[in-house]
Amino acid sequence: MLNVTHVTKKYHKVVANEDINLTIEDGKIGILLGPNGAGKSTIIKCIMGFLKYQGEIQVEGLFNKSVEAKKIMGYVPEIPSLYPNLTVDEHMEFIARAYKLKDYQAYKDELLTRFDLDDKRKKFGDELSKGMQQKLSICCGLLPRPKLVIFDEPMIGLDPHAIKELKLVLKELRDRGCTVLLSTHMIDSIEELWDTTYIMQKGRIAAVVQKEYISETGKSLEDIFFEITEGGAENEPESQAPESEVQG
Ligand code: ATP
Repeated sequence: MLNVTHVTKKYHKVVANEDINLTIEDGKIGILLGPNGAGKSTIIKCIMGFLKYQGEIQVEGLFNKSVEAKKIMGYVPEIPSLYPNLTVDEHMEFIARAYKLKDYQAYKDELLTRFDLDDKRKKFGDELSKGMQQKLSICCGLLPRPKLVIFDEPMIGLDPHAIKELKLVLKELRDRGCTVLLSTHMIDSIEELWDTTYIMQKGRIAAVVQKEYISETGKSLEDIFFEITEGGAENEPESQAPESEVQG
């Protein structure tokens, strides 16, 4: 379970996140949706403990910057950050050793096969295409079987097979009781996956949309997104659903 309470992050005078509150239960997928610069990557970096911020963040009840919390957190960054002189195999080994994993070989093989990297095991980081780097970054994030997995724009650069595979992985994580948080611009690609969507705008959470709201109203997430991010006062979130379903 992920709990973010009253988190504010400023880069000097720029308020990148203002009073962010969000909760994602075990076995649920939360989505961060928002225009460029809305603050999605910043809140993700706060949750991962990379930045200083005001407020409180807990993962499974643990302080997010504690070693215990970090052991159960997985992260796939927006831009893959690989080692140019390590091979695909060595990246996975590095993660396995850093997390002191045991019995990981079968899962490592499975991930590399599923993401079409099996025949690229000997390729170095700087020999991989952009999409291959992204796939390896996903495999590295998943190898420790984290309880909380955070993906920042994971679909970018992926081919259709990898997108399909990633969606399957997300469903499996949910079924395993993991907590998943994913930021994306590709609304279509996540339509059937999420439980709660947080629509961000100008550093704030402008609306919280529950899955049930979509089935009850027949509105698409895309419609709601544009109403909130491009609509006027008449499209305030409260006007679209009872407060328990869509909250401003
Ligand atoms: P995108 O969809 O383009 O990735 P985002 O929603 O992830 O955007 P952030 O990267 O979190 O947005 O940026 C939020 C705000 O914080 C923006 O105004 C951005 O210019 C600012 N910002 C982000 N990183 C820094 C930084 N290192 N220093 C100063 N300002 C920053």
